[in-house]
Amino acid sequence: MHRAAHPRDSRAPGLKTRPARGFMKNHDALFQTLRIQRRLCNSRTRSWGGEESVMKLREAEIETHAACNARCRYCVYPAIKDGLGRETLSRERFLDILHGLAFARDDLVNIHLHHVNEPLLFPDLPWFVARAREAFPRARTGFSTNAILLSPQKAEAALKAGLNLIYLTVPSGQPETYKRVMGIDADIARTLANIRTFLSLAGEEVRVVARSPLGFDGRLQAFYADFPRVELEAIPISSRLGRIDPETSPDLRQPPSGGRPSPCALSWVAGTLIILRNGDVPLCCNDQEHRFIVGNVFERGVEALWTSPRFERVRAFMAARAPRPADFPCDACEYGLKEGA
Ligand code: SF4
Repeated sequence: MHRAAHPRDSRAPGLKTRPARGFMKNHDALFQTLRIQRRLCNSRTRSWGGEESVMKLREAEIETHAACNARCRYCVYPAIKDGLGRETLSRERFLDILHGLAFARDDLVNIHLHHVNEPLLFPDLPWFVARAREAFPRARTGFSTNAILLSPQKAEAALKAGLNLIYLTVPSGQPETYKRVMGIDADIARTLANIRTFLSLAGEEVRVVARSPLGFDGRLQAFYADFPRVELEAIPISSRLGRIDPETSPDLRQPPSGGRPSPCALSWVAGTLIILRNGDVPLCCNDQEHRFIVGNVFERGVEALWTSPRFERVRAFMAARAPRPADFPCDACEYGLKEGA
């Protein structure tokens, strides 16, 4: 399960990158480092500490289904999978969401068809990609995948639909480490072969980002050395509000004990909207168990929810501009607490 290697985590402190060619010319690639991302947040959206202006919606993360083919040790999916249900997002509801996002047409950078799942398990994925590209031709549409199912057929279907963004999450190039971290009997050679084929099919317009939650070991580095177009992002492993086993990785970020509320260090979350299959909007990508739901886009409408006083209050909690309610997720998150009392 590659979900814990969440795209947004890649913008966290400690990020290492190999910038894409034409890096500074590509506005999507501004998300490459926290430093640059912060500049983006401060200049193009309202920063956590800033005064009120209309919050820009930069990225929509849409859940199509809730199944994964892996059991990664750095993800909450293995612990929650039995309660996730089999419902999928219907085509009609997806079109409703795209219609609802129209207010942000000039601001949306990415449409991410992925949330705590393996997108390639969703048979309708190419249709969803195609509709998103039609609706938002200036944005990138893509998903994160562990690439186990990235067969030539699935790669061709996604690319033909207009896919122009993909995150490839592979924790290790070492066969035994790969299996252990993925929690399944996966074959790293097959996964890398899938990626190689994908890269041979994808044109230069497709942004390809390789991620490794454990850092890129020698074998992964050697593999990606053949593909200079691929951006590399080593991403720190989040505790997911304290739910990930500390044994997973020595690099696991943990909430400081006795910490005090601090503005979320991932300030880009302010410009991100996560929409679940049922229309619920959870707090952020780190709240993988959806402990806090801001509202529901099918009940309120996307724009009405995004600009609602309730969402503003929630942003104030995230930014530590207002005292957080009891059990608010940020108070259990390493990104929302400061060391010391
Ligand atoms: S739980 Fe709060 S502090 Fe943690 S990533 Fe989400 S918004 Fe930021």
